[in-house]
Amino acid sequence: MQQLIVATGNAGKLREIASHLPDGIELITQAQAGISGADETGLTFVENAILKARHAASMSGLPAMADDSGLEVDALLGRPGIYSARYAGQNATDADNNQKLLTTLAGIPESERTARFHCVLVLLKHADDPAPLIASGQWEGQILTAPRGENGFGYDPLFYVPGLQRAAAELTPAEKHQYSHRGQALRQLQAAMDKGSGN
Ligand code: IMP
Repeated sequence: MQQLIVATGNAGKLREIASHLPDGIELITQAQAGISGADETGLTFVENAILKARHAASMSGLPAMADDSGLEVDALLGRPGIYSARYAGQNATDADNNQKLLTTLAGIPESERTARFHCVLVLLKHADDPAPLIASGQWEGQILTAPRGENGFGYDPLFYVPGLQRAAAELTPAEKHQYSHRGQALRQLQAAMDKGSGN
């Protein structure tokens, strides 16, 4: 069984990643390994995902995977983007961030509330791995004027998917995995791992 550190402290992400890990991989969370979070000093999702994975690999001596993700809102010129987790402040809760998004977008008509989730996954075999596996996904939607649904995490209650006529928080975990940015990236990563192992 191959051990893999997952470099996130976000319980929602962990749930989604853990339920779709490739066979033969034992997931160890950063918290279980006693590793603190990396400083996210990059300006893009991919930079931050690499920083997080490298930090976890270096502290643990194990292969590490990181997810950097966030919400890009067109009316806000791409914000909150890489700052999605801390949109309403350093220790903001999901509820704080959602409230700030609703307030900031007050009065913006439905046609201008387009947005998308991005997810970049990085897998490093070790801290000095010069050729990380990188996978990404994006999911188009629009920002609601009030929350809907109880599932998921983060901005899911405000993220409406027109093709499904439901908010992300109204989808089951399996449905979300089928369509979401993270589901797409996880499938892409799995394919890259299979290719690397000759499967
Ligand atoms: P990160 O830990 O810096 O990558 O922050 C990611 C943030 O983006 C999360 O804290 C959420 O606010 C948001 N986010 C990312 N993926 C999702 C998702 O699948 N649903 C809802 N919010 C998400």
